[in-house]
Amino acid sequence: MRKIVYCDGVKILYNKNKLNKGTYCEFGINTGSYCDDIWGQAHYMEHLFFSETPTLSHETIQRYSEIHHLNAFTSFNNVRISFDQSSSQIEECFKICSDMMFNSIINEKFLEKERNIIHNEISQRLSRNKKTILELSFSEKLYQSPQFGTIACGTHESLDKITVKDLQEFREKWFCKENFSVLISTNKSLRAVKKLVKKYITKNLKSNKNFEEKTTRNIVLKAPNFLDVIKKETETNSSLKICFVNQEKPQNPTEKLKFNQLQNYASTMLFRHLFRNVREKKSYIYSISKTSVNTKFQKIFGVSFDVENKDIIACIKEIANTIKDLLETGFSQKEFDDYVKEEKLIEDLTVPHPGKALETMDDQATVYGFFWKQKQVDKLFFSHTLEELNNFFRKNFVSNCMYVSILTNADKKEIPTLKQIEKIFETKKD
Ligand SMILES: [Zn+2]
Repeated sequence: MRKIVYCDGVKILYNKNKLNKGTYCEFGINTGSYCDDIWGQAHYMEHLFFSETPTLSHETIQRYSEIHHLNAFTSFNNVRISFDQSSSQIEECFKICSDMMFNSIINEKFLEKERNIIHNEISQRLSRNKKTILELSFSEKLYQSPQFGTIACGTHESLDKITVKDLQEFREKWFCKENFSVLISTNKSLRAVKKLVKKYITKNLKSNKNFEEKTTRNIVLKAPNFLDVIKKETETNSSLKICFVNQEKPQNPTEKLKFNQLQNYASTMLFRHLFRNVREKKSYIYSISKTSVNTKFQKIFGVSFDVENKDIIACIKEIANTIKDLLETGFSQKEFDDYVKEEKLIEDLTVPHPGKALETMDDQATVYGFFWKQKQVDKLFFSHTLEELNNFFRKNFVSNCMYVSILTNADKKEIPTLKQIEKIFETKKD
């Protein structure tokens, strides 16, 4: 049984879990890095949950974290804290999480301690991971603010600007009933869950009648074609990333779901197609990987390649030609059948976990309103036809919504210009 109910204004997403005696629960504040006045605030807040409360010392919180498998994360659109424990411990977990979320102490001492940790997190993300560098730069160009991309923790500069007062105000502003949800999968009854929510959650939350859900729907997507060249002398070869930014998603839940599925379908199939027809045939391509940038607005699909500097242009040409051919012919019946067969196999092998039911919810549900996905996925997913898929692919994966980022130390002459790339991808198709 899956249900969405309200309890004193707080949204509960309840899944009756008959598989085992465990409970998996997430407390969500629908406020992520896109709500930050100073980039990194929401994530900083998440760190402070684990600092100290008037009744729980830092050490006690650490111990509870291990016992109850407490976890927390901040994304682009929410801050969540979760526990995963046998249902006999459910009240204790509610009590602890509630204390951590609502009563954590925000003062200079904790601020400074966590600031160092977060500085490290930022450095790690930026220095080690080529993928992150490309993605960050990508969102910066696309949305004219990296804050709307995938990195929630901010930059070294923005982090240093955050004060105790900023975080207190942040909590004041966003922690209200209208902006809070509890996602729970448990063998306990909905009645029992509601009782706990009343006792540990709603009591601590004010109602904010004037609360306006901050949605990003009004943000205009800046989407001209672009080529982004990031010079990095330390690189030994080049990484290139080619992204397709799809048309705007439909808002109607069923249409949106269908769109998401076709996008997944088409992007995975394109990846597989490129793997077989480009990577396996051209030895100068070291690796290919499927990437996606998950933003509030849309899932942006891309492929990344690692090549020698001298092969950048050849690689782009090869990909362009393969995609052009594919736009002519569409995916073949065999590619399609193979894909569906494998997806079904993965589905069958998936091990049930109490949290599994929650994972299958729409990833953007927190802002656009929840709806349960799994049943509809089963029903819809395998009912798309090859023709539908090919039409979707032709409409959404075209060169007029395409972006190329290159992380490289190559000479100017080895790097194509945007004009050259546009010419390479030029196609007679709409
Ligand atoms: Zn962190």
